[in-house]
Amino acid sequence: MSRLAIDIGGTHLRYELVGEGRETCGILPSKKTEISLFIESMLKSHPGIDAVAVSFAGQVHDGVILSAPNIEVRRPDLRDYFETAYGIPLRIENDLNCAALAESVYWKEGHLVALYSGTGLGSGIVERGEICHGFRSLAGEIGHVPYRKAPFACGCGKDNCLELYASGAGIGKWMRHFGCDGSPDLKRFYHAKDDSCRQVAIHYIEALLHASATLVTLLNPKILVLGGGVVSHNPFLLPIVRKKITEFALLTSCDGLNIEMTRIENASLEGAKLLLDTM
Ligand SMILES: [Zn+2]
Repeated sequence: MSRLAIDIGGTHLRYELVGEGRETCGILPSKKTEISLFIESMLKSHPGIDAVAVSFAGQVHDGVILSAPNIEVRRPDLRDYFETAYGIPLRIENDLNCAALAESVYWKEGHLVALYSGTGLGSGIVERGEICHGFRSLAGEIGHVPYRKAPFACGCGKDNCLELYASGAGIGKWMRHFGCDGSPDLKRFYHAKDDSCRQVAIHYIEALLHASATLVTLLNPKILVLGGGVVSHNPFLLPIVRKKITEFALLTSCDGLNIEMTRIENASLEGAKLLLDTM
């Protein structure tokens, strides 16, 4: 028997088949891979699969996909569909929740918050070793916490979200706003002589500090783990956040706090594999 772990984001679908002796894994473009069709094809080609766990880049509650901004979804009620039609137990969680769970196991810390800045900005919260979900599993939406009014709108419809500043999508929007050409290289902007291009980096760093400090003040984690594509490509951000966090967060919340860079290559997929252990 084997179990299937999947991580689907706006760009890639990664999967790993666990427990067949030799590990099978792969990566596909998510634009061409609808999630329910992919699972069905895997169940057909690997009849021994007896459980499925999905890490999903969107809002998920109680086995149902509530919103999927960049992913095609034919069957929002994914868990019920596979349990009814195939008799296969399926667990689906938001990708940041999965990442936080994997970080919690990696760092051996039950009070941990993962703050990931990639295309978007999101966080996952682990409290006493368990994912903190909130009423409808929407806890941790740090990217849409109100921050400052921007001259463009967020995907959620508001124009003042942290995500408009501290995300890859935000960097692109500010680059267009300030007329900055070339690659979206935060370090280059940070050291730029051109003040408007430097503003792109300043906007990003200030918002990342606000997001970090908000999470630390609100949730009092032992470890705040930074990750996601933008942070991982810009290691210079870690010492800045470590140094300046006390200027933004409640001081007592910073006592004993560790701020780390993720060391897991694909934390969301690792988190999905951990979900399989709970099924
Ligand atoms: Zn928003």
